Amino acid sequence: MAAISRQRITVTGVVQGVGFRPFVYGLAQRMNVSGFVGNDSHGVFIEVEGAIHALEAFCNALVAEAPPLAYIDEVTTVPIPAQAGTEFFIVQSQAQPLHGTLISPDLTLCDDCLLELFDPANRRYRYPFINCTNCGPRFTITKDIPYDRPLTTMAPFPMCSACQAEYENPLDRRFHAQPNACPRCGPQLTFQWSTAAAAADGTEEAVQDAALLAALALLRGGGIVAIKGIGGFHLACAATDEQAVQQMRQRKGRIDKPFAVMAADLETVRRFAHVSADEAALLTSRARPIVLLRKKEPSSIAASVAPGNHCIGVMLPYSPLHHLLFATPDRQSGAAHQPSVLVMTSGNYASEPIVRHNDEAVRQLAPLVDAFLLHNRDIYVPCDDSVMRVFGGQELPIRRSRGYAPFPVKLPFAVEPTLAVGGELKSTFCLAHERFAFMSQHMGDMENLETLAAFEQAVAHFEALFRISPQQLVCDMHPRYLSTQWAQRWLAQERWPGARLLQVQHHHAHVASMMAENELDGAMPVLGVCFDGTGYGPDGTIWGGEVLLADYGGYQRLAHLKPLPLPGGDAAVKRPYRLALAWLWACGIPWDEELPPVAACPPSERSVLQRQLERSFNCVQTSSMGRLFDVVAALVGVRQTITYEAQAAVELEALAAAAEEEDVGNLYSFGWDRASANLAHPMVLDPSPLLRAIVGDVLAGAAPGVVARRFHLAVAEMVAQLCVQLVQQSKQQIAAVALSGGVFQNVHLLEQTTARLHNAGLRTLTHRQVPANDGGLALGQAIIASARATLGTSFE
Ligand code: ZN
Ligand code: ZN
Ligand code: FE
Repeated sequence: MAAISRQRITVTGVVQGVGFRPFVYGLAQRMNVSGFVGNDSHGVFIEVEGAIHALEAFCNALVAEAPPLAYIDEVTTVPIPAQAGTEFFIVQSQAQPLHGTLISPDLTLCDDCLLELFDPANRRYRYPFINCTNCGPRFTITKDIPYDRPLTTMAPFPMCSACQAEYENPLDRRFHAQPNACPRCGPQLTFQWSTAAAAADGTEEAVQDAALLAALALLRGGGIVAIKGIGGFHLACAATDEQAVQQMRQRKGRIDKPFAVMAADLETVRRFAHVSADEAALLTSRARPIVLLRKKEPSSIAASVAPGNHCIGVMLPYSPLHHLLFATPDRQSGAAHQPSVLVMTSGNYASEPIVRHNDEAVRQLAPLVDAFLLHNRDIYVPCDDSVMRVFGGQELPIRRSRGYAPFPVKLPFAVEPTLAVGGELKSTFCLAHERFAFMSQHMGDMENLETLAAFEQAVAHFEALFRISPQQLVCDMHPRYLSTQWAQRWLAQERWPGARLLQVQHHHAHVASMMAENELDGAMPVLGVCFDGTGYGPDGTIWGGEVLLADYGGYQRLAHLKPLPLPGGDAAVKRPYRLALAWLWACGIPWDEELPPVAACPPSERSVLQRQLERSFNCVQTSSMGRLFDVVAALVGVRQTITYEAQAAVELEALAAAAEEEDVGNLYSFGWDRASANLAHPMVLDPSPLLRAIVGDVLAGAAPGVVARRFHLAVAEMVAQLCVQLVQQSKQQIAAVALSGGVFQNVHLLEQTTARLHNAGLRTLTHRQVPANDGGLALGQAIIASARATLGTSFE
């Protein structure tokens, strides 16, 4: 008889709520080993006993064949004395208040469940809340760990005997599927009119399929419906109905900012957008993000869905309810008349957090919609849709939220318990400990009390889920960011007794986030090219066109755009024409009436502006690259005033992308001292020659697309030449060039820049896990704080 041995195996990672225990059970049967498997707060623990070769095969298969949603971080194996058992069983969960458990993000309906959803013989036929251990809501319904039904918002739904039997059967796909439910025992769909007046037309409130049909009838007729989803409410209308889309804009008070759409399937998407193989893979991935795709023109999509944009944000159905919305034939005519593309935008006002509770929705969203499609499964955590672009065959995150959060970014080294509160716009926070950085879902713009309240709740939730109590807080240097003030207040209130507070420079945090997600150890510095709209500089000016030599602990500012006036601060940001006039003035270029921004500026405002500039009254200085994009957008005449952040830059990119095929000839160039060998003072990049050339082109009647493209190429060329020069001059070895900051969400610019850097033989890093915009800031903040304490820096 072969020698029998026993091992204790611990598996950590995303191993709970993903069907790991039934998988282990099945594996044990197959390998003919005895023992048990269970969940605790660390992950999954297993004891197996059998012949040595069987145990070996078991351990190999454990990793190689893990269930689709599992993410294994670590497997540890310890030999223990054999117990001569013969059976294998699943043991009860053991809750221990320890950190280290990973929670799965919410994931799209799996193929098995999709088949059942449309199988008339299945007991869950057309049931909008069908799910199994391989799919469904997770993060947004989980209140605490361990992930068990009583600690989720499924607690109020006792399972019927059929569901209970599945739940208890280790060989069933729904074994220990915490959100398991069926039409008999689970959540219900309801339809409700938004006002009594609307209800007076005869249709009554309805449940389940009738609710769905009522909502579809309304959407078909051009109505707007608030639909409760996984992480919050969507406002939906037919995307091909120009009138409906415009009405949605009017009611929401959203003038130009693009709406995302949801399309029935890939084939439908291809009718109105270009879809590469990588983009198709991302659209159909388990996270189901909104993917920014290049529009096909003309198409049947209403023009006001994404005006001024060459891209459209598209997602595919991810909840069973979404699938039903697109696959429910009209019962009268028998044909599928419902829209195959719906606008699906967050159910909220302006920059307030997404609405998640039924009563909140009915109260707050009633003026925006004609009716509600509700259900009675609570959303514990609000979570917006994620937004991605594809660059170089990989994800370029614009907003990392549903489907990704709270999955951590793995850090290059262990950090102490840290809470980094991020910036102000597109805010996220990061709770980090050891080698995990748990990035929060998208919090929105931290400029109102509602967002702050949501932020505080989310922090408390993360603390509970990951059992991390911060010993240090990190925030931006900007004294007026609400997040900074919040961190200072928390510190003063001793929310975490003994915790310290550290303030980190904005662009250093951007660059560090890039280093962290690429798992650089920080031994060698990177050349961080950080271009964004606004970041507080330690000299009191506003930075944003920065080239930093940086490690985790510190940085040296090697080059920056020449600081130029921002007359009236915010007033100049919202009115690119005003900014353009100020920069022309500062560069000594006359205000020619023929120039679009001069024509857009009323004469009275011109004379006030002139005096303001001469006296330098209320003019902060900024080296922002984002602002240079605004100025150029105004000069070519594409955008004089903006209604959403970065609108001018987005529209300028669209112009440049449309001129991609053209040979645009001469490039513009920045002025800088190419002979300078002195790194003691930062090099100044002067946009005057570039602006002068653009003005010349515009006055000569050059096409806006040509000017826009020349400008993009000039920025790319400047970055490449500058990096080559700085790498040559540096006495230190440089690990890579890192392209971060919101300006690098511009794929056109990114393509041109990385191509030139590759040609110059420089290793180049771009974002793949966290956004280049301020949504990625917290990751950099968290790692800087820990590194400063332990690693030190070669910069001071
Ligand atoms: Zn499933
Ligand atoms: Zn049931
Ligand atoms: Fe930034």
